Amino acid sequence: METGFLARLPKGSDLLDAITAEFRTRSVKKAGFSLIGALESAVIGFYDTFERVYNYREFAGPLEIVSCIGNVSEKDGEIFVHAHIVISGEDFVCYGGHLASGSPIFAAELCATELPGFVPKRGFDDPTGLFLWSKW
Ligand code: ZN
Repeated sequence: METGFLARLPKGSDLLDAITAEFRTRSVKKAGFSLIGALESAVIGFYDTFERVYNYREFAGPLEIVSCIGNVSEKDGEIFVHAHIVISGEDFVCYGGHLASGSPIFAAELCATELPGFVPKRGFDDPTGLFLWSKW
């Protein structure tokens, strides 16, 4: 049984979509992952816990992916990726937050660890306004 995989993601693809596609192609429903590489530009979210909304900011590239980590579970019956990312520009200053769509890949290497057992499912959590894992 395969317990993990390495994948090089395609240049020009949206980072979040490309990560999700790797897990969906392999039918991996429960995993943790890390990823490094570079982006042409990025969109990162910050969750305002008072207003309960994501505020997004766009960053022009080129950008290093200093670190990107995340997890894989299920939401609405589909394999779902939640990822956070730290990026830096040529001034080496880092920004980070919730990875959003709209972040085209320059180069990206994904290192995933598949986890056995029950697959957690995301549902709406009223106290936070987020789609979190239901208790199990
Ligand atoms: Zn997040």
